[in-house]
Amino acid sequence: MKICSAISLSGGQGKTTTVFFTALLLAQQGKKVLAVDADPQANLTFYLGHEVQPDEPSLFEVLTKQVEVEDGVYGTQYENLFVMPADRGLFKVSDFLSSSGAGAFILKQRLRKIHDMFDVVLIDVQPSRSQICLSAVGASDHVLIPVEANVKGVNSLVDTLDFLNEQAELEAFTGSVLGIIPFRDRWVGNTQTLEGRQNIAAMKEFAGEAPILASIRESEKFKNAIRQGKLLSELDQPDLQYPFEQIVEALTHE
Ligand code: ATP
Ligand code: MG
Repeated sequence: MKICSAISLSGGQGKTTTVFFTALLLAQQGKKVLAVDADPQANLTFYLGHEVQPDEPSLFEVLTKQVEVEDGVYGTQYENLFVMPADRGLFKVSDFLSSSGAGAFILKQRLRKIHDMFDVVLIDVQPSRSQICLSAVGASDHVLIPVEANVKGVNSLVDTLDFLNEQAELEAFTGSVLGIIPFRDRWVGNTQTLEGRQNIAAMKEFAGEAPILASIRESEKFKNAIRQGKLLSELDQPDLQYPFEQIVEALTHE
């Protein structure tokens, strides 16, 4: 079982979009996938058509050990794709994780129990240096860093790489950066905009060993696909799906 988190410390960088389409594609290819929503905004849970009921365990109860891990796993409308959902209450888990003294390792320990059930676990992580983020990074074999192809995105990349290096020095992050994904890269016809090109060039300077993967292009089609719960290929936009195919390739060949 491979565990991969989408981490980017600023908001709106494409984390949930990346996890959503990668999860759908992996599941469609027959991999058993668990999508973990580690963001109290709970966008991924919503995209996957799940709503946490008051008496149902979510990631919160799993992390705080009130239930067995399996009790926080739910089926979705997609074959092979399961969700460990979140709701607003997830923010309260920070106190538990910080007072436990080993917060960075708790999600890793919990997921070990379902090692045989899944091929890939994808974690959508809230945009901050929070305890939840520490725990996701601590659990990860791989990290994907989506960042907008603009100045804010480059800054998010620098912050995120700093954070991962700090965690690696503490031996709390033992995985690798699978890749950096430029998000909302604008093209006009067959021409990439100057802004996109310059900012992706800046990303390369900071990336070090980490590869820059194919861009997610700026397009309303992604929002349409999310709204309909479909892959871009199913909406006759196979070209736009390429970045997720590349991620699947990297994840399944690592
Ligand atoms: P947050 O930090 O709030 O969790 P995020 O990093 O998860 O944000 P997303 O929610 O994936 O980012 O994307 C931000 C916004 O961009 C969303 O409203 C999403 O619908 C929209 N979006 C997704 N894909 C594209 C695209 N290719 N072009 C333009 N907008 C997009
Ligand atoms: Mg998100």
